[in-house]
Amino acid sequence: MAKIVCVLYDDPIGGMPDSYPRDDLPTVTCYPGGTTLPTPRELDFTPGELLGCVSGELGLRRFLEREGHTLVVTSDKDGPDSEFEQHLADADVVISQPFWPAYLTAERIAKAPNLKLALTAGIGSDHVDLAAAIARNITVAEVTYCNSISVAEHVVMMILSLVRNYLPSHDWVRKGGWNIADCVARSYDVEGMHVGTVAAGRIGAAVLRRLKPFDVHLHYFDRHRLPEAVEKELSVTWHDSVEAMVGVCDVVTINCPLHPETENLFDHEMIGRMKRGAYLVNTARGKIVDRDAVVAALETGQLAGYAGDVWFPQPAPRDHPWRSMPHEGMTPHISGTSLSAQARYAAGVREVLECFLAGTPIRDEYLIVQGGGLAGTGAHSYSPGDATAGSAEAARFTAA
Ligand code: NAD
Repeated sequence: MAKIVCVLYDDPIGGMPDSYPRDDLPTVTCYPGGTTLPTPRELDFTPGELLGCVSGELGLRRFLEREGHTLVVTSDKDGPDSEFEQHLADADVVISQPFWPAYLTAERIAKAPNLKLALTAGIGSDHVDLAAAIARNITVAEVTYCNSISVAEHVVMMILSLVRNYLPSHDWVRKGGWNIADCVARSYDVEGMHVGTVAAGRIGAAVLRRLKPFDVHLHYFDRHRLPEAVEKELSVTWHDSVEAMVGVCDVVTINCPLHPETENLFDHEMIGRMKRGAYLVNTARGKIVDRDAVVAALETGQLAGYAGDVWFPQPAPRDHPWRSMPHEGMTPHISGTSLSAQARYAAGVREVLECFLAGTPIRDEYLIVQGGGLAGTGAHSYSPGDATAGSAEAARFTAA
């Protein structure tokens, strides 16, 4: 029988909701391109309810306990005395979410001799030291595509809100003002702008598709080029490097995974190559950009705005400079955990666990690491290595 340790974000401050704003979720039958949604044998939860927090338990308890397995669910994930770290000694499976990541560093993997599967309830497995997982022959899997469209919608929202100066204008209403000139002194139309994405995978391509009707000029860089027909359909220009792309863009959106090739990609130098007054939107991972370079660029005007929902580490310390820098549109890490996305990734986690516990293959597209090497989506989108350095600082949030 297996012990499954699941790290989820805290319940709402006021407790689990008695009701939800809507009675149902729209029916989505398959992802773009025809990939099927998760196909678990059964579900023990109601789609549209909170599943990603501790009491939601990803809807897993009944299924796992009925089969005799042990499920531990906690949000206490940081520091050597955390509940998560205490349970590593006999954990077979660790489930974590990018929104509230249980960092699986090499040191923690060494404390988990039975660990066979590190499963991400979402997309992005950079919170796992992939080199250490490879060395220990641990499988790393995630629920590919479960929230790619959720994030693409968020990216479009953030681009529009920065360029049109939405959040500061909303603040004037809340303050009782009617300060039109203050609102519009930083407000532009997106129409006609050059918008580029770093990576055109599931999220990046969906962002391009959603932005096309805004009559913008589209650009991308990816280490895998899109099919020619798609480039034509979207009228999107491919660049052979990030450096070449950022110089011509008014808006840049980052949609690649965090791995050794992309860590700190947007440093002082890269941001310096951008057009003065460009906007940068990052819903990929906080560590892809240099924290202090972003603050400095907003202060000097090199960047006109920065928005995103990803930080490093997570939760971000209460004194993290992105909480107070000018011209920001930051949120906590929420874009991929809408109620709609939760239903999909909870079903995907169930599907992966059913396969793992029955000893049947996990879908190739869900795999990041398997059999001592990158596999599936991991082989396509990652490089082997470790991006968890510095994650211990996450303990400062709870300690404060
Ligand atoms: P994907 O695997 O479909 O696409 C990733 C793309 O990145 C691939 O096309 C790959 O070729 C490209 N890429 C990898 N390394 C690159 C490099 N060095 N330079 C340029 N391109 C590179 O994944 P996806 O579904 O599009 O998700 C992408 C990332 O977005 C995830 O890995 C995760 O970090 C992040 N994400 C964030 C949230 C959120 O809630 N904010 C949710 C989902 C995913």
